[in-house]
Amino acid sequence: MQIVQEIGNDKVARLYVAKLRDYFLEFVESRDPGLPLEEKMVIVVSCLLGCPVKCLMCDAGKNYCGMLSKEEIFEQIDTIVDRHFPDRKIPVKKFKIQFTRMGEPAFNPAVLDVLEALPSRYEAPGLLPSLSTIGPKNTWGFFDRLIKIKKKYYGGGHFQMQFSIHTTDVKKRDKLIPTSKMSFKNIADFGREFFETGDRKITLNFIVMEAYPINPAVIVKYFDPTRFVLKFTPLNPTEKARSMGLVNLLHHEQEGRVQELLKECRKLGFDTIVSIGELEENTIGSNCGQYVSNLKCME
Ligand code: SF4
Repeated sequence: MQIVQEIGNDKVARLYVAKLRDYFLEFVESRDPGLPLEEKMVIVVSCLLGCPVKCLMCDAGKNYCGMLSKEEIFEQIDTIVDRHFPDRKIPVKKFKIQFTRMGEPAFNPAVLDVLEALPSRYEAPGLLPSLSTIGPKNTWGFFDRLIKIKKKYYGGGHFQMQFSIHTTDVKKRDKLIPTSKMSFKNIADFGREFFETGDRKITLNFIVMEAYPINPAVIVKYFDPTRFVLKFTPLNPTEKARSMGLVNLLHHEQEGRVQELLKECRKLGFDTIVSIGELEENTIGSNCGQYVSNLKCME
């Protein structure tokens, strides 16, 4: 893997564009501007070359060129780790590795191989893997194996699991995420298997958009507030989202617009998170996983 471009800075986020085989991929080191490196470090890796799902809000689906191997995923992590900690001893309180960049992670079994190998690869007491999925159906037993790995290596709050649902309207969810997916009931059942006392709650992520309803009554019908937390995020300014006419309803200056929704969700017993991110991240292009696609996925 050869790094061909670095964009951004060490203060907010540094995005790496790399050439791998005949393709390009991207990965990110993201920082909390208010915290020193010893407190928090986030690495966001790609799991696929592009993505076959082609969600309406995501440029990663423009091209799909195949899976990354275990070592190719590790190359992304090692590149960033070696910049700061060449001896692979990582004394960072929260060392988060997010499997959320380009490509749905549940379509690549190598992601699970990486999760199994991570604890012995680095000396990192603060290790916190984070996996975000749209919850595809029938992915070769991916989720069953994930449950076993989480229980074996990452109990007691050392794993972050997220399902990106985005709307409670099933038809609109299908339009937005055009692939066969787990139903809300399937996800709730997974939650019962996956979650143990001491774990971080499983996140249900909703991008707050015009015409994509988020109905707390539907959420509580399926999901148990003792296992699931609700996260609301803005629509990233991708080329695809623009061309599909998607409209963001959650801006920095308009956080108040979701207050009613938050209030209703809290009344039903849910913890809620509003995650708007740094404005600078949009300029760097680091908060969405589409920089390569916007340039050119393949040579
Ligand atoms: S949002 Fe995720 S699943 Fe959808 S196209 Fe982008 S990378 Fe793939």
